[in-house]
Amino acid sequence: MATEADVAVIGAGVVGLAVARALAQAGREVFLLESERFVGFHTSSRNSEVIHAGLYYPPGSLKARLCVEGRHALYAYCEAKGVPHARLGKVLVATAAEEVPALERIARTAAANGVEDLRWLSAAEVAELEPELACVRGLLSPSSGIVDSHAFMSALRADAEDAGAHVLLATPVLSGRVVAGGLALALGGDEPAQVHFRTVVNAAGPWAQTVARRLEGLPADSIPPQHFAKGHYFTLSGKSPFRRLVYPAPVPGGLGTHVTLDLSGRAKFGPDVAWVDGVDYAFDEGRAESFYASIRRYWPGLKDGQLEPGYTGIRPKLSSEGQPAADFVVQGPDVHGVPGLVNLYGIESPGLTAALALAGEVVGLTAQAVA
Ligand SMILES: Cc1cc2nc3c(=O)[nH]c(=O)nc-3n(C[C@H](O)[C@H](O)[C@H](O)COP(=O)(O)OP(=O)(O)OC[C@H]3O[C@@H](n4cnc5c(N)ncnc54)[C@H](O)[C@@H]3O)c2cc1C
Repeated sequence: MATEADVAVIGAGVVGLAVARALAQAGREVFLLESERFVGFHTSSRNSEVIHAGLYYPPGSLKARLCVEGRHALYAYCEAKGVPHARLGKVLVATAAEEVPALERIARTAAANGVEDLRWLSAAEVAELEPELACVRGLLSPSSGIVDSHAFMSALRADAEDAGAHVLLATPVLSGRVVAGGLALALGGDEPAQVHFRTVVNAAGPWAQTVARRLEGLPADSIPPQHFAKGHYFTLSGKSPFRRLVYPAPVPGGLGTHVTLDLSGRAKFGPDVAWVDGVDYAFDEGRAESFYASIRRYWPGLKDGQLEPGYTGIRPKLSSEGQPAADFVVQGPDVHGVPGLVNLYGIESPGLTAALALAGEVVGLTAQAVA
């Protein structure tokens, strides 16, 4: 490639793809740089594929705003592009009276976030919708759903390429340097190169801090801490007893061992929360016991032997175990002082739902001057 170019987007997960699409459609010449041989190989393929309504995130946070905006944009995009998805609805359950206040807090947060379609359900109403569920009360979120994340990413990539973006796979960004009028990046792979980009968007997911630390001239104190929380999923052998998503009251670090369905109707359970030191997808089958126990609280009909090891995903966290959950960080030149650079940190859930809205946010920041 040439030694000078307009925009580099680092990382072709769902966020990098959405950003590349938005910038290419805005008329920029975009190079999407991905170290793997496939797009969406990491966090974007290892999640629940849930379209979140926006129930959990503190009002006023980026997560709250971008989840609600992103959800509307995602449903519209899926409909326009024929991306498989389903507005299944979600039932949140309190399995004991002590858990009802947690659902009440969620209902208040959701209302403050502009989610106005939640409906309280008595135990009898829950039983009518989902006869296998055991609970004392429920909350129905009709606008929660699921999406085929791979089809979504393929559609984003096609849009980006149609608008002229270049997707360079097996092209890791090794390091970079702030220079006059942009950043010079060292690219690895089969054809190593040094390229001067006017604009760089760091959408490297769990490696966003690693990439940022290799950018000479970016103030180190602008880079937030990097933590990782693994989530395991077990799949259910046999037919799903549920037609909707089912979520228990949230637990610290995650949303509880919930039930999600894929578009073929197959059920999976998870993710749990295991704090780890880095990106390592090893599956700990020893976790089955705690899954059986937590699932049976709301689905007593689960039989021994019905859970099969599924897969794991790694949440890129900015807060560590025991600390309150951090917000997404979308950092432009006004914060770190480097013109033309946008860093995205801590893009854990609901990053898939929020991807299109995050891309809009990034487009705004790429035009930002240093404060
Ligand atoms: C267990 C789990 C469950 C989740 N469930 C949901 C859900 O149900 N709904 C929802 O909305 N969100 C969910 N999320 C969140 C969602 O999956 C993420 O927010 C989203 O996938 C983040 O996408 P990304 O593009 O930022 O990261 P990634 O998909 O990880 O992409 C980053 C890319 O950067 C590349 N890269 C890294 N370093 C370099 C480099 N030096 N050079 C070039 N490329 C590089 C990587 O190879 C990777 O492809 C979940 C996340 C997890 C972990």
